[in-house]
Order: sequence, then structure tokens, then C-alpha cells
Amino acid sequence: MNNNFLLSHRKEEPENGTLYMVGTPIGNLNDISKRALNILKHVSLVACEDTRQTKKLMNKFNISNKLISFNKNNSSTKIPRIIKDLKEGNSIAIVSDAGMPGICDPGEDMARSLKSQGIDVICIPGACAAITALVSSGLPSSSFIFEGFLPKKQIDREKILLEISKNEKTTIIYESPKRLKKLLMQLFEFCGGDREIIVARELTKKFEEHVGNNINDVIEFFRDKDIIGEITIVLKGTIKKDLKIDKLTIKKDLNDLINAGLSLSAASKYLAKKNGLKKSEIYNMI
Ligand code: SAM
Repeated sequence: MNNNFLLSHRKEEPENGTLYMVGTPIGNLNDISKRALNILKHVSLVACEDTRQTKKLMNKFNISNKLISFNKNNSSTKIPRIIKDLKEGNSIAIVSDAGMPGICDPGEDMARSLKSQGIDVICIPGACAAITALVSSGLPSSSFIFEGFLPKKQIDREKILLEISKNEKTTIIYESPKRLKKLLMQLFEFCGGDREIIVARELTKKFEEHVGNNINDVIEFFRDKDIIGEITIVLKGTIKKDLKIDKLTIKKDLNDLINAGLSLSAASKYLAKKNGLKKSEIYNMI
């Protein structure tokens, strides 16, 4: 246990009273690190999202260790138990079904609870679908936004989609194959068809596929296909427009359209679509 926020040199073997958040493969089991295997083998117990899934990984590497389930449904009862075990001197590893625990997977609450009690939390890094997709996308990767899964409720979803459409940084999104086509249509609506995008499917697996280049192309590619497998989307940020010039141009275009006989509402709707803006943003400009 360590009450100040300075962790000293770590040994290869698990240390008593320490929680290890262990990254596991997102498809190809050979992507596990030697250090991860060593920790999974030697900790007092492994808390996993789904014991059957983790058993497959452990069997492949001939590791047998005690497994307990830890997921979003039982975390409120399991966290106090794990804290108690750690305080008694056990070492514990947390793994999710795939990738990094805590990234759209159980583990985030656990790390926060443990840190607040002064218990050491160590990450054993492994594959993460977001970073794997970003690195291979060829899109700007020095600064990016990770959205995870977008909210399902329409009002919350549209709010985030509007933010994404205006963002200048690359955005990474997780989506299920069932909902991919719907999300692509929404990205088209909010960002326009020309925005660069890469849809990465089945990363690190046998049928790995990277589909691009822009939203129009990707919609076309998936149009008549049944989509299966796991999906991560990497979307290029918008290019910041010179708002001063845009504002003047839009005002002039609006006047021209109204003089040509369109109503203010119809002219604004047309210009919003043309410029990738919302009708309300056109109103705000004038
Ligand atoms: N903790 C994981 C990580 O570190 O990437 C993410 C878990 S989240 C519940 C699962 C989502 O991650 C999937 O729905 C998909 O969007 C993405 N994902 C996971 N594995 C993937 C793969 N092999 N290829 C593409 N996307 C993947």
C-alpha cells in the first residue's frame, strides 16, 4: 500500500496489496505481453468480465489461477470485497473480455475507488481497439478525441454528433455492427459526405479490414452488405473555416436567395445544408 502518489520501481512479480489492470488481446491472442502472462499467473486471483472468455486466454498459455467475475452488474458488491482482499495483502489482476480494462469496459470505478483508499493500481498495457484503429488510419494522431460508444438517446446523440462535426481533432468512436449503417448516415448528415473516415473492422483478426476514404465511400461500401464483426471508426476533424469570410459570404448568399424569391426559412435551410451547418447557426449569423 502506498499513501503518497509516488510509486517506486516495480518488480516483475506481483506485489502484495496491488491491483493490476491487465490489457488483453482484441482478437489475436498472440498480442498478449509476457509481463501480462506473468502477472496473470502469479497474482492471488484474477477478476474478469466473463470467466469463460478469460479461461480461453489462460488455457492457451497454460495458466491456471483463481478466477472471479467482475462486471458492471456486480461491481458494487465486488469492489468492497476486492479492497478487503488487497488490504489483507493479496495481489489481484483485473481483465476485461478484450483490450484494456476501464476503456468502455469494467475497471474504471475500481481504479477510482482503490486510488481514493491509497491502494496501488498498476496498468500492464495491452491492445486497445481505439489506438490500434487510430495508428493504422493514417489520420492525424498526435491529438485526438475518444468518444467510445455514442449515447443512444436521440437528443444526447445529436448533441455529441454536432460537437464531433465541429471538432478539429480526429475522433474515435466504437459502434456495434448492427448500428453502423445508422451511425454512418448520421455522420453524413452532421459532417457531410466528404469528411475523411476509416472504418476498422475485426482489428488483429483473420478478416481485418480498413474501409475509407470518406463518408460517402464508406456508406456506399456497406450499403448492400450484412455487417458482422467488431467496428471502430476513426473520423478526421473538420478544417477550421475563416468565419469572418464565411459569415459575409453566407449573408450575401442569403440575400441573393431571398431576392430570388425564397423564404428566409427555405434559404437558411439550403445554406445550412450547403455549408455543413445547422439552420439555427445561419440564423445566428444574421
Ligand atoms: N476495452 C476495449 C478496448 O480497449 O478497446 C473496448 C471494449 S468495448 C466493450 C468493445 C468495442 O471495442 C467494440 O464494440 C468495438 O467497437 C471495439 N473493438 C473491440 N475489438 C475490436 C476489434 N478487434 N476491431 C475493431 N473494433 C474493436
